[in-house]
Amino acid sequence: MDDLTRLTAADLAQKLSASEVSSEEATRAHLERIASVDPDVHAFLHVASERAIETAKAVDARRASGETLGPLAGVPVAIKDVLCTQDMPSTSGSKILEGWVPPYDATVVRKLREAELIPLGKTNMDEFAMGSSTEHSAFGPTHNPWDLERIPGGSGGGSAAAVAAFEAPLALGSDTGGSIRQPAAVTGSVGVKPTYGGVSRYGAIALASSLDQVGPVTRSVLDAGLLHDVIGGHDPRDSTSIDHEWPSMADAARAGLRDNALKGLRVGVVKEIAGDGEGFQAGVKQRFDETVRLLTAAGAEVVEVSAPSFEYAVAAYYLILPAEASSNLARFDSVRFGMRVNPVSGPVTSERVMAATRDAGFGAEVKRRIILGTYALSAGYYDAYYGSAQKVRTLIQRDFAAAFEQADVLISPAAPTTAFKIGEKVNDPLAMYLNDITTIPANLAGVPGLALPVGLAPEDGLPVGVQLMAPAHEDARLYTVGAALEQLLEAGWGHPLLQSAPSLAQSEMFASEEGAV
Ligand code: GLN
Repeated sequence: MDDLTRLTAADLAQKLSASEVSSEEATRAHLERIASVDPDVHAFLHVASERAIETAKAVDARRASGETLGPLAGVPVAIKDVLCTQDMPSTSGSKILEGWVPPYDATVVRKLREAELIPLGKTNMDEFAMGSSTEHSAFGPTHNPWDLERIPGGSGGGSAAAVAAFEAPLALGSDTGGSIRQPAAVTGSVGVKPTYGGVSRYGAIALASSLDQVGPVTRSVLDAGLLHDVIGGHDPRDSTSIDHEWPSMADAARAGLRDNALKGLRVGVVKEIAGDGEGFQAGVKQRFDETVRLLTAAGAEVVEVSAPSFEYAVAAYYLILPAEASSNLARFDSVRFGMRVNPVSGPVTSERVMAATRDAGFGAEVKRRIILGTYALSAGYYDAYYGSAQKVRTLIQRDFAAAFEQADVLISPAAPTTAFKIGEKVNDPLAMYLNDITTIPANLAGVPGLALPVGLAPEDGLPVGVQLMAPAHEDARLYTVGAALEQLLEAGWGHPLLQSAPSLAQSEMFASEEGAV
């Protein structure tokens, strides 16, 4: 049974369609894996075992009756708890929404169901997607399967850890400043932030509406493409959704597996985030440089590009994000959703109930950002803070436009370091914020980004990821280049998440020498 959890989604889907295995068997195998490792990993906030088995049986029955099913029918999937699910609690990692079951499904969740994937449960995350380590979850941290004392990244650490620990072949995440790509980088998984507007945000509990984007977290680029094809496309329920003819991302990934897919491709190394600056780990830089050399050897034309405004990206983001978050989180008012707490003493007025509820229901990081955002938007400061940040955003967009004149894709490390220790940065907000130094620019410009693993850092044996970025609407290009690069790397590296690992003990799920370069 255990080996069913080691397969990529594409391979599992093939076995399902050939009726070599049933969806029920595959689902049970993943539920067993969850039962055995999740007490240590804590990737899940909610596991829907019975419902998953029922759904799997129904898919098996439909297949047996000869119906034509979608390419991922019967494949299990984990869902970040930021997404509304009408049959499972949806907390966004916050106490204020503990136990809340939404009255509707997010569009992406509805699409998973229509495509007959099997939702396994909801994954842990930093509260309201604020964080880079999943330590800000109100329900306790998730542990990195590579080393349980380390963080799995954030905010979508639960989804990345679930995929890296073979608890699910596929997961959904959301990325506002890096929450899909940075967790992918530090867990050795693949994560994609689509073009802004490419995937519906309807039913995704909003953090910063102009930045948020839902996307896939997987163990291979092709799997990410297959999942992207399921969730992507225009949604009239999301006013920022783009009405665009998207090509198949899975086909784009397959195109990358053909010979010479990288020949003549112009790859831009973004000087400002190429790993030389302060805060970048030596082993990250080393693996990044090797990846660039590999691309050159495969016939790509590597050029250096400059994006001078990226220097201000984190600062601008931490004005725009709190401003939008403070407004989005105003809906948690003790009346419409979730928790209600009465003041300990004094009159019970609606304002005092609201204050007591928000005080008890929100964690420290959420409060910090609401205060920051309210301040940045206040009369007298609006132009100086929010206005300036929006100007920086325009400059970053111009930097991207100029860079894409010289290059088809841009490349950078996906995160400045490998997974750090739990507790190391949790009390230092600035240190935490700097984890997204390479991922935030893509959110500010709305362009797509794909993170994929390229090896282990020599100093600590932990995964290193690189990020590819493409112009808006060109997500398919990322899949082609990503799959080509993954194939090149696999030959030399023996990717530990792709090549079937032996059955692993709970506390040492990966020995560090496994797959070492
Ligand atoms: N780590 C970033 C933050 O804390 C990104 C969060 C995200 O992408 N949701 O805001």
